[in-house]
Amino acid sequence: MNIITIVGARPQFIKAAAVMHVYAQNRLLHTGQHYDYNMSEAFFNELHLPAPQWNLDCRNNDPDMTTKIQAILQAEKPDVIIVFGDTYSTLCGARAAKLAGINVAHIEAGLRSFNDSMPEEYNRIETDKIAQYLFCPTHTAVKNLQAEGITNNVFLVGDVMYDAALRFTPNEEEQAQILNSLHITAKQYYLATIHRADTADSPAKIESIFRALQALDKDVIVPLHPHTAKTIAENTTLQDLLKASPSIRIIDPVGYRQMLSLEKNALVILTDSGGVQKEAYFQRTPCVTLRNETEWTETVNAGWNRLAGTDTDRIIKACTTPFNGSEIAEYGDGKAAERIIQHLLDKQ
Ligand code: UDP
Repeated sequence: MNIITIVGARPQFIKAAAVMHVYAQNRLLHTGQHYDYNMSEAFFNELHLPAPQWNLDCRNNDPDMTTKIQAILQAEKPDVIIVFGDTYSTLCGARAAKLAGINVAHIEAGLRSFNDSMPEEYNRIETDKIAQYLFCPTHTAVKNLQAEGITNNVFLVGDVMYDAALRFTPNEEEQAQILNSLHITAKQYYLATIHRADTADSPAKIESIFRALQALDKDVIVPLHPHTAKTIAENTTLQDLLKASPSIRIIDPVGYRQMLSLEKNALVILTDSGGVQKEAYFQRTPCVTLRNETEWTETVNAGWNRLAGTDTDRIIKACTTPFNGSEIAEYGDGKAAERIIQHLLDKQ
């Protein structure tokens, strides 16, 4: 089976690693959406991904991305393309395949935040409308598709991010290494990530979050996404706030195993990331989500995750009220990628 997998953003390299592990013949097309070394190439090295066969160098939201992908798909005529999640690369990949008459498999189909102002929500809805094969990580995702009238070739397979988290679990030594290098102790620090456009583009929201981080009783490690770093670099109020808050420890984005280590050992994780909310549960670390809604509703229903938005007081309260999470019967058994490839092989 001739598959081209389209990746462009950090979480997609991780998801692609889970799929490539099961089907190595898969060829990678990198749109170039993420291009900093520690947001892209570092993951190819760490996750042992082959170099992409194509790198389009379409930085961020390049308007020509669809056309450039289409040209490659028309020349290569794969049996199917794989796209992941909800980024601009996901939607451009799906649109390019549609224009080239090629089938689309969408991994992480059916997720919905029901917040129409998020570009990610638009990207996933449009991708699901185009896709011929829809691979859902949860029952909720399947139901969301049903509610939109999409029932054909919808498969509940589990979560490829869980496959990846199991496969790349850091050992004790790796965990100790990153904790020691940051001079932190297990369960004596918070971990925070902020990168969604809705927040990362808003100095006011970042300030409100930082004021909460400043008020917490322990250091907060913040591996900073370049998008958020850019907003801070252009805003002196945020820079002054950080200078006055030594417990907010901004660091460069870290590798995947380092991130899993930091997640496992954090007291609480604060994040607006989709993937990190789930990984928090995989590590059984409580999570406070810096948004008002989530696609991963099971984590909230089971008591592992609280929605706090960006309001300072709400975030502090959410972090400091004890958590009492129960087990979640979703996300599969670490074999989501195997199921996906098997379904695709069966359909050829
Ligand atoms: N991640 C990482 N290093 C970091 C921050 C995040 O390896 O410094 C990983 C994290 O473990 C997760 C993925 O990146 O697997 C989440 O990506 P991101 O938050 O950028 O996107 P989202 O999941 O919101 O689409």
